[in-house]
Amino acid sequence: MSSIADNVGTVTRRIQKATLNAGREAGSVRLLAVSKTRPASDIRAAHEAGQIAFGENYLQEALEKIDALSDLADLEWHFIGPIQSNKTRQIAQAFHWVHSVDRLKIARRLSEQREGAETPLNICLQVNLNEEASKAGCLLADVPGLAREILALPNICLRGLMAIPDPDQSEADLKASFQKLADALDNLRRDNPDAQSLDTLSMGMSGDLEIAIDAGATWVRVGTALFGARASP
Ligand SMILES: *Cc1c(COP(=O)(O)O)cnc(C)c1O
Repeated sequence: MSSIADNVGTVTRRIQKATLNAGREAGSVRLLAVSKTRPASDIRAAHEAGQIAFGENYLQEALEKIDALSDLADLEWHFIGPIQSNKTRQIAQAFHWVHSVDRLKIARRLSEQREGAETPLNICLQVNLNEEASKAGCLLADVPGLAREILALPNICLRGLMAIPDPDQSEADLKASFQKLADALDNLRRDNPDAQSLDTLSMGMSGDLEIAIDAGATWVRVGTALFGARASP
């Protein structure tokens, strides 16, 4: 077994245990394998171990891997990086999910450019929970208004919220940050009772997935624990 296959097993068991400890239904948390900077061969190894969903941050790099792996029909591609508006067409056409939508202009373009596809593009609204100047994401206060406008767009399906909380917080503060995102999703569901699609909280990474699952995460985005440390750019 390759070490990537071992790691898929280890992370999957961490997720199962955290799901059980949180009193949540088995299978309610999915693993998104974050493969940025990793070669296509690493993705192939993870896929052989049963991993289906992969997250990428850089469009050009992702498109090359999507092409190189087109023989694997069941791969599910998630875009999780910052989005420039001149890149939306390729994102709308090559991916199944986008976790990092943080403004209406981007959502409108993705919707227009998804037209003609068989399925809508699943999207999450990224929230800058700790209001860090260096980070993408809308403010928590803007979520209700943005969500209302995005829910009205065709060709994209608003699934929920995503965040990357400041990792240098205490465990208690991190927990409170994840809980804030969960509360924001509850409020959205209450305010938009017809929006059956709102079922997703994309939060938690290699170091904090247990805390995120306890707060209600449905996707955890894991890179390092699967593929090892990335070279710093
Ligand atoms: C890189 C990245 C991850 C994975 O982080 P790890 O700490 O390596 O697990 C998750 N989410 C986003 C948005 C990322 O850019």
